[in-house]
Amino acid sequence: MNRVSHPARTLIPGLPSELSPLILEYFDAVDLALSRRTCSTWDGYVAATVHRRVYRLITPHVAQYDDFSEQVQASGAVIGGLAALHILFPSHPCPPCLELFVPESTADALVTYLLDREHFADITPLADRKWSVGHDGVTVLKKKMWCVFIVRSRSRSPLLPLTSDLHSGLFNYVGAFDFSSAYPVLTSTSRGLLTMVSLGRGNEVHEDLEGAATSWVRAGWNLSSKWLPWSPSEGCQGTNSEGCAVAPRYFGDRFCASGPVSPLRERTPREQIALESAWTVYWWRGGYTCGPGCHSGLEEIEASSRTCPRSWLDGV
Ligand SMILES: [Zn+2]
Repeated sequence: MNRVSHPARTLIPGLPSELSPLILEYFDAVDLALSRRTCSTWDGYVAATVHRRVYRLITPHVAQYDDFSEQVQASGAVIGGLAALHILFPSHPCPPCLELFVPESTADALVTYLLDREHFADITPLADRKWSVGHDGVTVLKKKMWCVFIVRSRSRSPLLPLTSDLHSGLFNYVGAFDFSSAYPVLTSTSRGLLTMVSLGRGNEVHEDLEGAATSWVRAGWNLSSKWLPWSPSEGCQGTNSEGCAVAPRYFGDRFCASGPVSPLRERTPREQIALESAWTVYWWRGGYTCGPGCHSGLEEIEASSRTCPRSWLDGV
């Protein structure tokens, strides 16, 4: 979330410099992750594009962007929910809110900062609510017509609650050091795999979440618990697949569209260490498999998620 300027060099030799940023304006997470591999100039434009989208979302609503960014970074929070979806897939509309996913140990400090320094009001509903796996409650802050949801993780990683969101189109984050989208191809085509948390009896959406699911469908999304119809291969690859109920996944794996938010040439040692020592969340979606051939004859499996250092998983 630190400021990143566009490179001085144009993206394509001979192209007027003011046109270069516009080329990336509608790139989604897949395009951003792929195009930055071209060269350091593209890498610089991708980092600047991600920063601009975060900046445009937040600056109308906070008095001190740099202070805000510093506090978010210090707390280890990441942007998730609809805001992350909009930043990484800009064809999806800009939401009137910001969801910050925060580790359990730093959430209170971030709330205090927003109340005292940015003059938000705490409007958290008093009603009790049973939170799903990974959540430890949500604090709702409001300033004028803009809301900030502080989603408290039950872990040292802010990412754990992301894996119990309604569907896979919300498995995205933009943090102080990197971004990731776990199901980028499905998300770019408005397809969402329902998580086990959202499913009740008969693999149908739980009645408490029917309203939420309906609003996604009205917005043009296809929601399903079945992976096979959307699989790029004919049969299911089971644990080697992107979306089967049994597929072990983590933010940053080979199916994700991920990358640092700072350009390689400007990356500080501190940023590099943060990237290399980051914790991530490891999950399988759970629910009905595509068939007994997916994994050890299983036809149904419980969902699971846990946090661990990403370097451990990269080495597996
Ligand atoms: Zn399968």
